[in-house]
Amino acid sequence: MSLDGNNNLYCVAYAIVGKEKTETWAYFFRNLRFAFQQHGCRKWNWTFISDRMKGVEKALEKEFPQATRRICTQHLYANFKEKWPEPLYHNLFWFAANATSHFVYNKMLDKIGRMSPAAVEYLLNVPQQWSKHQFDPEVACDHNTSNFVESFNALMNELREKPVIELMEDIRTYYMEAFAERAALSEKVELNGPTPYALGCLEANCADSRIYEVIRGGGGEFEVHEGYTKFPVNILSGTCMCGEWQVTGIPCKHACRAIYENKEELVHYLHGYCTGQCYRLTYTDHMHPLPNKDQWPTFQFPEILPPVQERGVGRPTRQRKRKPGYPKKRKGKRSTTITFSICKAPGHNSRSCQGGPTAK
Ligand SMILES: [Zn+2]
Repeated sequence: MSLDGNNNLYCVAYAIVGKEKTETWAYFFRNLRFAFQQHGCRKWNWTFISDRMKGVEKALEKEFPQATRRICTQHLYANFKEKWPEPLYHNLFWFAANATSHFVYNKMLDKIGRMSPAAVEYLLNVPQQWSKHQFDPEVACDHNTSNFVESFNALMNELREKPVIELMEDIRTYYMEAFAERAALSEKVELNGPTPYALGCLEANCADSRIYEVIRGGGGEFEVHEGYTKFPVNILSGTCMCGEWQVTGIPCKHACRAIYENKEELVHYLHGYCTGQCYRLTYTDHMHPLPNKDQWPTFQFPEILPPVQERGVGRPTRQRKRKPGYPKKRKGKRSTTITFSICKAPGHNSRSCQGGPTAK
């Protein structure tokens, strides 16, 4: 799963395997690499984010050795919390994880260090990127959790009991329709204009920035005052001291103020990925309709058999297992009226029941 310039989930590839382990992840990444090569892609330094699923690291090292790795902070926090459960760590961890600047990150780690040097050492030794300030501006994506795949997981929960080919077909038609809708939406976005998501971010940043004081320097430099805090902005290099512009590819509120001061259009300062041009390119190629299975072309490939099933003990669960520390899935509002199971009358329990159809 990937994200497009409008911050929507973009399905790149899917596969069915028997069990999550190094060999099956390697199979997936190897085929992903072949698919990229087949389409003339020469980029290898992709950024992958995942939780610490079994086998992902080893498989990626083998198939995409140049890849940048991010870890889902929700998962990292679940592990961190097991060792340092005190509530004080909670806020400091999340401030550090969402820090777009070195300064804020270091400050949070200092505070954690004063409570426990071992906790800081643990965080410094995480091999993957997890704090936003570490992210490459070229990627222009500040997600540090893999929560955005939730909608795909929800789709899978509906389809998982279907036979393999039907399941694959349902995924294909689901994305065929979704991609067609987005292709139509992307046509409405101006080539040099912002995607609807980028426009929303710009509008919010702009609204916040009106009250800021700004002092012009030379060479595209500005000093933007947010209360008592000063943020140096350079609109030529696309940087603000707060770091948000670099990490998201969208001018932060300080940068918006500086660009406005320079009487320029904000959209000229967006990362290319957030513009209509890239958005349209993403959906130029669409998924084609297919006829019935008996009309599919035949290939000289060996027959693909279903993966060997390795069943665990007990009945397979329908819900994805949530690890400790992950937010619980929100349930619908439940009725608070208790019904006594014997007399079937509402508001009763075994003590208050005065008799009913089957009361003893
Ligand atoms: Zn800023």
